[in-house]
Amino acid sequence: MKYSKLKDVLQEEPGYRLSQAEHAIYKELIEDWAQATSLPIKLREELNKKIPLKIEARTQEKKDSVKAVVRLSDGYTVEAVLLKHGQRNTVCVSSQVGCGMACIFCHSGKLDFKRNLDAEEITAQVLYFSRLLKRPRQSVDNVVFMGMGEPFLNFENVISSIKILNSRDKFDISARKISVSTSGVVGRIKDFSHIGFQANLAVSLNAPNDALRSKIMPIDKKYPLKILMEAVNYYTRQTNRKVMFEYVLIDGLNDRPEHAKELAALLKGKLCMVNLIPYNGDDIFKPASVSATAKFIQILRQRNIEVIQRQRFGKGIDAACGQLVYRTYDPKV
Ligand code: SF4
Repeated sequence: MKYSKLKDVLQEEPGYRLSQAEHAIYKELIEDWAQATSLPIKLREELNKKIPLKIEARTQEKKDSVKAVVRLSDGYTVEAVLLKHGQRNTVCVSSQVGCGMACIFCHSGKLDFKRNLDAEEITAQVLYFSRLLKRPRQSVDNVVFMGMGEPFLNFENVISSIKILNSRDKFDISARKISVSTSGVVGRIKDFSHIGFQANLAVSLNAPNDALRSKIMPIDKKYPLKILMEAVNYYTRQTNRKVMFEYVLIDGLNDRPEHAKELAALLKGKLCMVNLIPYNGDDIFKPASVSATAKFIQILRQRNIEVIQRQRFGKGIDAACGQLVYRTYDPKV
């Protein structure tokens, strides 16, 4: 999957070969160089030996989602999910193998951090689904960095992958349709204000006060809400872009009316929206009830906080923010 090696392999070829090869990978979505008919046969054979295009993955498909366990060259695997909403398709990508942030409600947080993904390993997850969607003549419309890992602890590679996704010659996905979700790595939120393109920032919040947040998200001890909110304010001042606060609603833990009121007070006057995410349930925590969720939404809306509720995409394959993996997951299979 080392497409960046293309330049080296093609250095003796005429200059236009590189764009022909990239066109074949990203536009024609070929899976074998034999399909790249614009290239001479000998070159196709050489490319198949040096830069094989196969992406090894196991998939599990449900009505509105497809989960892929993608195998990396060192044997580690990461998970990515395709979420279908009518004709629109969103891919949720992983940015690390495992995650060191240890959020207690998150399946990925129960896996040790192994390593960062490089930009091509991240974009290969999108390429895999782009190929899958080629037959129904669809494409990937949105990419969200909400799979395994803390993207802002792999900042450079994540930014490089966004550039590849955004590139006209490659995936050509508008930066506005790319969202990066952080658990609250404050310094990188500030850096993200200056990346020079309009990708979206999401912050995984999940609690309206430090007492609760520090219990469920250890990062809160390092960056309490006051510091986190200062960084978010900095971001919105610099970019004039709305921040999405993600809030996974868990029964009895963070779904009470008093939590909603406190959340509304915390976010008052901010350029933001709240994305309420139904928890995908496990042995310890349960999803918030329908009535608790409805009340939570009502309280936020009464206080003029914009709120959306993510559909329960991918139920049954554990696809939701930070909940992609764990039950059946072994990072090295
Ligand atoms: S919620 Fe995100 S940051 Fe927290 S453990 Fe899960 S993947 Fe890591």
